[in-house]
Amino acid sequence: MSALLDEIFDVAGSVVLVTGAGSGIGRTIAETLAACGATVIGADRDEDRLGEIKDTQGVEPVHLDVADAGAVDNVVNSIVENHGRLDVVFANAGIARGGGLTTPQGTIDAFDLTAWHELLDVNVHGVVHTVRAAARPMKRQASGSIVVTASTAGLRADPLVSYSYVVAKAGVVNLVRQAALDLARWQVRVNAIAPGPFKTNIGGGGPIDPAVEARWGSTVALGRMGETRELRGLALLLASNASSFMTGCVYPVDGGALLQSLSLD
Ligand code: NAD
Repeated sequence: MSALLDEIFDVAGSVVLVTGAGSGIGRTIAETLAACGATVIGADRDEDRLGEIKDTQGVEPVHLDVADAGAVDNVVNSIVENHGRLDVVFANAGIARGGGLTTPQGTIDAFDLTAWHELLDVNVHGVVHTVRAAARPMKRQASGSIVVTASTAGLRADPLVSYSYVVAKAGVVNLVRQAALDLARWQVRVNAIAPGPFKTNIGGGGPIDPAVEARWGSTVALGRMGETRELRGLALLLASNASSFMTGCVYPVDGGALLQSLSLD
């Protein structure tokens, strides 16, 4: 990279926490920032995936269930103790459950409340726990960047995913705006990435069924699902000083999915 590019997108020496770093989007973000010279702590609740991070050069694995507020506080406190600061946090861990509107369990009068609470515990409460914990050291430092992984499903109704998922993602979108307004006094920035459909393990893992891939691809103007590497540029932008005047915003990376209307079939 040229010296100017290095200067604009510099993350070398930054201390970064990525939740849900064991797989998919979080893993790509963690590996990218580590490769760019940041000190990256990759948190996940899945032990096998943490084992895989251990083999990834530059990403320090830590076991964490973001639904547990005390555990999130402990991880953030130990990062600050060990590294002296916390510059960037990606509140990315999330789950999805089936139940798009065309399935019997997907409708408002029939969806399973246990699954509803389970999803909100991770996708809303887990994000709140992470943003809260990150805000404390960042306020003391009077600097920091928090990035939440939302979704295009949080920006409109989406017949292909569950009530819990659209409600959770819409919730974190407004959490980002509220926290950005709150934390601006301390020069702490808060933004969201809103991915469209990406090929990750969120649907259960393993190779994606070609029919499922084609269905999701048809919801995107560019006609295909995203690859996680296509989020690297935005992740680096939001982690670095290149985004120093950006806060309270939601950035779709969706191949034009939001341009298309979605149908039930
Ligand atoms: P993924 O399943 O590949 O990765 C998610 C990781 O989060 C996994 O390693 C999982 O073990 C971890 N995780 C789940 N619950 C956790 C918890 N309670 N505590 C700690 N770690 C936990 O999925 P992904 O697609 O990379 O998902 C990352 C984020 O992106 C999620 O918030 C998801 O909702 C969002 N997202 C994904 C897509 C997509 O199409 N893949 C689209 C929009 C938004």
